[in-house]
Amino acid sequence: MTADAELKPVWQNHIAGEWRDGPDGARIPVENPATGERLADIARATPEVVDQAVQAARACTDSRVLQDMHPAERARVVTDIGRVLRRRREEIARVVCLDSGKSLSLARGEVDGAARYFEYYGGLADKIEGRYIPLGNGYVDYTIPVPYGVSAHIVPWNFPLEMAARSLAPALAAGNACVIKSPEQDPLAVTFIAEACAELGVPTGAVNIVCGYGEDAGAALSAHPDVNQIVFTGSVETGQAIMRAAADTVVPTVMELGGKSAGIVFPDADLDNLTTSTSWGITMNSGQVCNAMSRLLVPRQIRDEVIDRIKAMSEGLSIGPGIEDNGVTPLISGEHLAEVEGHCLSAAQQGAREVTGGRRLADRAGHFMPPTVYADVDPEMRIAQEEVFGPVLSVMTYNEPDEAIRIANGTKYGLAAGVFTGDLDRATWAAERLVAGQVYVNDWYVGGVETPFGGMGKSGFGREKGQEALANYYQSKNVGMRRLAS
Ligand code: NAD
Repeated sequence: MTADAELKPVWQNHIAGEWRDGPDGARIPVENPATGERLADIARATPEVVDQAVQAARACTDSRVLQDMHPAERARVVTDIGRVLRRRREEIARVVCLDSGKSLSLARGEVDGAARYFEYYGGLADKIEGRYIPLGNGYVDYTIPVPYGVSAHIVPWNFPLEMAARSLAPALAAGNACVIKSPEQDPLAVTFIAEACAELGVPTGAVNIVCGYGEDAGAALSAHPDVNQIVFTGSVETGQAIMRAAADTVVPTVMELGGKSAGIVFPDADLDNLTTSTSWGITMNSGQVCNAMSRLLVPRQIRDEVIDRIKAMSEGLSIGPGIEDNGVTPLISGEHLAEVEGHCLSAAQQGAREVTGGRRLADRAGHFMPPTVYADVDPEMRIAQEEVFGPVLSVMTYNEPDEAIRIANGTKYGLAAGVFTGDLDRATWAAERLVAGQVYVNDWYVGGVETPFGGMGKSGFGREKGQEALANYYQSKNVGMRRLAS
């Protein structure tokens, strides 16, 4: 047991304003990815526990407590959750860092990002409006935005606190009662949202947080007949399973899925900026980011120089536990490390050239994978087509800009893409042609809570973040009246 004095040994689910254990004391062990040791346990939600959480949210919806609240009050409730997260920033960041493995700097950023979602959507809660539609002839017609009711949120492990906040904040702002299924690998940090709700006296059943395994608790939540909408962030395969379940209950879904994002380098690119952006684009959170820059398309004439620079930067990064704020931190689990290594093995077998990395750091107890670069990658290789979700970059070459666009668009995904050039015409030309929900120019991960984010192709549909996302969380009801008096 990696004892951390501040970490309690057992964490609970939060349902109907109460802290609850799993049935018969069922628990899920939570590992510290930097050491492989058990960090804590969390109560395990079974389908029966998920049902309790949905019923709590249903009761909250039926009471209309959120819907009938003055929007300014709802705005305050949502914003205050962010305020509590900010007040407890260091304590939460430490837990994020220990259970997800990420660096302390990124963990602090995750707490700030989560707080920001509550502040941003709290600020929008009292700006949701209907409209009047003039029909004439004595008719009065207007629309009212109404929440869906019970909103289910299934969250991945890479940025669990931030991903939970990303959809919970607008859902609450619009008046939905929510059930969050936190990821089984690193569920601890999400619990702080429940603690904030308990401290603030958020209406009972408005925010319920359960942790259980995907095929068990996640499947039960997505098939539950009392759920009115599902917001999912995770892999394509799980998203497809959830959409199948949602087809049976006929509920809308928001799908934020995986990616295989490509950066296109034009010959005039600033190579210092390119190297820094690429390194950050593929090693941030050890590449466990949906919109990581996992492919780089380089014109043949500058290929060697670009590869040399990226190799040098990759090999210069510090690798170690997140709590020591290293640049490259462990992958989430031994299982995931084995998957990432499997992708590297396939690259080598299919003829890609290993420039650096390629295998785990076997002398460490944790799940460490060094920054890895493959050159001479063919666009049809597995490493160029499948999401690796690790610090693994595939470098490909192209001759003509049209070919670069074709390669960039040549996977099933469409999450992000990037262009490196000083030429505005080229940048806009490429941005128009790239099939991606977001296009970055001369940088990576541009945007914030304010900017809409989501996928094209199999990267999903619906947009999170920004003002657009609010529309995911309410539907329009039309009221039409005939005036009887003349
Ligand atoms: P995952 O699909 O394995 O799991 C995501 C969540 O779904 C977890 O909470 C899991 O318990 C649950 N789940 C698993 N099986 C389920 C089932 N049958 N029914 C219902 N729920 C189930 O994904 P992951 O490994 O946790 O996360 C990595 C993936 O998430 C990557 O593909 C990444 O690109 C994607 N992701 C996308 C975004 C985005 O905004 N587009 C953000 C972060 C991560």
